[in-house]
Amino acid sequence: MADLRSLYQEVIVDHTKSPRNFGVIDTATHHAEGYNPLCGDKLSLFLKINAEHIIEDIRFIGEGCSISTASASLMTETLKGKDLDHATALFHAFHHMLTHDGDCPNDLGKLAVLSGVSEFPARIKCATLAWHTFEAAIANKLAAVSTE
Ligand code: ZN
Repeated sequence: MADLRSLYQEVIVDHTKSPRNFGVIDTATHHAEGYNPLCGDKLSLFLKINAEHIIEDIRFIGEGCSISTASASLMTETLKGKDLDHATALFHAFHHMLTHDGDCPNDLGKLAVLSGVSEFPARIKCATLAWHTFEAAIANKLAAVSTE
């Protein structure tokens, strides 16, 4: 377990130092801002979703602690190319892992590196900020569409 933990730690440090998909999408179809006041993490998330509900591109900018940055980086890497149903299922699985002692219900892939966060309840919001922002981005657009 110690080896696995240090491997997980390495991946988190790597994603914190060099976040993947960091930047803005000028032609984004979905966008939302996220803020975690408990820690001060801020995040802007941009998505480009096509007519088949596939996430063609996903990027973020923001400032936050290492957990929030690594989680946003890992989320964008994981969600790129996925359809929205799959993305929502991954969010639920990820959330389950963090609130059930790191138990991985599905194949979360690299997202499992954040399982240790479940031991630090105060940091769970750091790890889920990007995902809540993703959910808000999707909901915003759908709400806007339904009133048209
Ligand atoms: Zn944080």
